[in-house]
Amino acid sequence: MRDVIIIGGGISAHTAAIYTARAQLKPLVLAGETPDQLSYTTDVENFPGFPEGIAGPMLVMNAKKQAQRFGAEYKQERVTNLERKGDDFIISTPKEKYDAKTVIIATGASARMLGIPGEEKFFGKGVSSCAVCDAAFYQDKTAIVIGGGDSAMEEALALYKFCKKVIIVHRRDQLRASKIMQDRVLKLSDKISVMWDTLPLEVIGDEEGRKVIGLKVKNVKTEEEKIVDTDGVFLAIGHIPNTDAFKDVVKTDDHGYIITDKANTNLAGVYAAGDVQDTIFKQAITSAATGCMAALRAEKYIEEKKAKGEY
Ligand code: NAP
Repeated sequence: MRDVIIIGGGISAHTAAIYTARAQLKPLVLAGETPDQLSYTTDVENFPGFPEGIAGPMLVMNAKKQAQRFGAEYKQERVTNLERKGDDFIISTPKEKYDAKTVIIATGASARMLGIPGEEKFFGKGVSSCAVCDAAFYQDKTAIVIGGGDSAMEEALALYKFCKKVIIVHRRDQLRASKIMQDRVLKLSDKISVMWDTLPLEVIGDEEGRKVIGLKVKNVKTEEEKIVDTDGVFLAIGHIPNTDAFKDVVKTDDHGYIITDKANTNLAGVYAAGDVQDTIFKQAITSAATGCMAALRAEKYIEEKKAKGEY
């Protein structure tokens, strides 16, 4: 029986691990098999304490090392189920079942897909949700980025370094991204342009189905449809919370985000942190902050139970 199991491998999970490890709760972190969002980010310039910015992967790696220094144990296992066992919990992965007194869910969110024809067929063959990972394949090529938020701006900046042309396809006439990110992108007009009021309709591939050659789009104001030639389509239209394994036991909202009150979920002993419960901020710093809150909640819960003689 573990005092605390943390599910997730991003900055909120590592922060919860640092706090619970320092509280001598010997946390087990089930970090899953896919990298967290910061691992796909370039420079993080708004995390306090790094005046020159810090690379996203470095930030998470350091946070993990910090947790391990205090004794946090990590396993790369994907959690498939969470169930109650009296006041405790059973966490299942394809390999094993774990018992825990408290659970911190910090599973983050995954890239949202458009659901248009061709998108799935050409995923990995020109359709991508990670420019930081794939931009180098687009040396002197054309790439389209879909979306108008900060993620789309980051994708465009990552692609700018390699591509001869980057086209942002956005469904409105205004970007959602922060002003600083907008400015950074829009001033690179030598290579980056924006197609405003434009909806993606279909990813077009070559006859052999091996690579992307275009994107069919529609202007929502004029209703005009056309195919824009491109070698790649990068999706940056937001994220979906990773709550499939928990939604039977923990309350979620209409979009699947875990409903929290300062890291508390509806279940005593289960806490949630990071993007899996954040419908508003989704920043590295707010993720870390909620990881801290969840850890302190878990620690207090265990202390109170001990004081009552229940453990
Ligand atoms: P987001 O802010 O929700 O933006 C998603 C974008 O995709 C919006 O522009 C949206 O259009 C568009 N979109 C959504 N569904 C679409 C669809 N079906 N078809 C076409 N377009 C669609 O998501 P995000 O950019 O991933 O950012 C999430 C959060 O992380 C934000 O708080 C952001 O500030 C933060 N973030 C920060 C950084 C940074 O600081 N460096 C980097 C990345 C993300 P509408 O605008 O019309 O809704």
